[in-house]
Formats: sequence, C-alpha cells, structure tokens
Amino acid sequence: MNNLSQKPQVLLHVCCAPCSPYVVDLLSQDYTPILYFYNPNIHPHEEYALRVDEIERFARGTGNALYCGDEDTDLFFDAVRGYENEPEKGKRCEICFKLRLDKACTFAQSQNIKYVTTTLTVSPHKCAKTINRIGAETAALHNVIFLAENFKKNDGFRKTVQMAKQYSFYRQNYCGCIFSKKN
Ligand code: SF4
Repeated sequence: MNNLSQKPQVLLHVCCAPCSPYVVDLLSQDYTPILYFYNPNIHPHEEYALRVDEIERFARGTGNALYCGDEDTDLFFDAVRGYENEPEKGKRCEICFKLRLDKACTFAQSQNIKYVTTTLTVSPHKCAKTINRIGAETAALHNVIFLAENFKKNDGFRKTVQMAKQYSFYRQNYCGCIFSKKN
C-alpha cells in the first residue's frame, strides 16, 4: 500500500463498548481509528472491569488497535472533590471530560498520532459543545488536533444503540461515576 492510500490515524477515546461501533464505523471512512480506553471516573472496580472486558471484546472482534490507560480511581476523586453534588452536565462533568481528554491527547502525542476525538458526544446526556471546547483546549496543549464532532447527530444515538444490541454488549444504566449511580 502506498502512502497516498493510507488513512491517517485518529486516537479515539472510548468511554465504553456500546458507544463505540457506530463511531468507529463512521470514522473509518476517512481515518484509521486507534481506540484508547481511559475512564478513571468509572466506579466501582467491578463495573470498571466489566466495561474494559467489553471494549476488549469489541477490539478483538473487529481488529481495531486498543490501548487502555490506568484505572486511576484516586485521581478522579481528587479532581472532582467539592463537586460531588453537581448535577449531570455540571462542573463535575467538565472536570471529568478534561481528565479523560487530557490523557488521550497526551497519549496521542506520545505515539505521534495527529488527530484525537471521543465517543462521548454520542450520548444525548452530554453537551457536544462543552466536550469539543475542552477537547480543543487540551489538544492545543499537546500539539495534536481535536476533531470536533457531535456523534449523536444524524440519528447517531439510535444507530449506536442498535449496533450495541447487535454486539450484545453489556449496557450500563448510569454514566460511570459513583455520583451518577446515586442519581
Ligand atoms: S456523570 Fe458522567 S461525565 Fe459526569 S462526572 Fe460522572 S462519570 Fe463523569
């Protein structure tokens, strides 16, 4: 294969397996997605392990490269201290996005991957504008380019749910942190 036919790599921060197949398919039209699971927000450990197992199953089945960051539970609790009672879409979530996207951009830079994006905007509970702003700010610090997307658009969320069912993924009923589990 010559260089002209090679698609550029994009580091795709994946929040969980169910949110991934539709986004991976879409990005694959123009890029080679490299999956990156870094989600220190997910609690408790059993839930974290379950979500890792499912994204590993997806990557194995599709042949996509997958890297997993550390669990970093304490880092998340330290970062959101004082914001425990914030509602979803509030300040705690902004800190959570920043933590995850900063690590993804750091990893992309270390691997010479120029583009970064995230599955997070698939969720109807998350504001794409906020995620894209934080992504762009973080990417600029690491000399990579954040692809601003809103994957829930164009029926993206419905297609995501449909594809997750085809893969028979475990689908969690809360966002990830212990605070969202209580809501
Ligand atoms: S509700 Fe979701 S996005 Fe917000 S802090 Fe918790 S895990 Fe992170």
